[in-house]
Amino acid sequence: MKILLTAKPGTTSQVKTGNWRELVYPVIDIEKCIGCGICERVCPEGICFPTGEKNSSGKGFYACDLNWCKGCGLCASECPVKAIEMKEEGK
Ligand code: SF4
Ligand code: SF4
Repeated sequence: MKILLTAKPGTTSQVKTGNWRELVYPVIDIEKCIGCGICERVCPEGICFPTGEKNSSGKGFYACDLNWCKGCGLCASECPVKAIEMKEEGK
């Protein structure tokens, strides 16, 4: 049987899938962030990362790359200091 592939294997990192997201996206309050890294560990897309910058309290804060975010909200629900708020698209 002949199988036709529509994409070359190993190309997903080159395809921005953030536009699959329909309702919500995470916004990190960098002043609340304590740099614990939990969002990085729980994100199924692996798109939360340390920015290398510090907030006014001297904590290294994180960011999430919305180009690949699906809006699942896991980062927000697991953040121990509630630094992540899920916002509605377009608001
Ligand atoms: S909402 Fe989901 S996919 Fe988006 S950054 Fe948070 S954990 Fe990752
Ligand atoms: S889980 Fe919350 S406090 Fe921890 S690094 Fe992520 S945004 Fe910052």
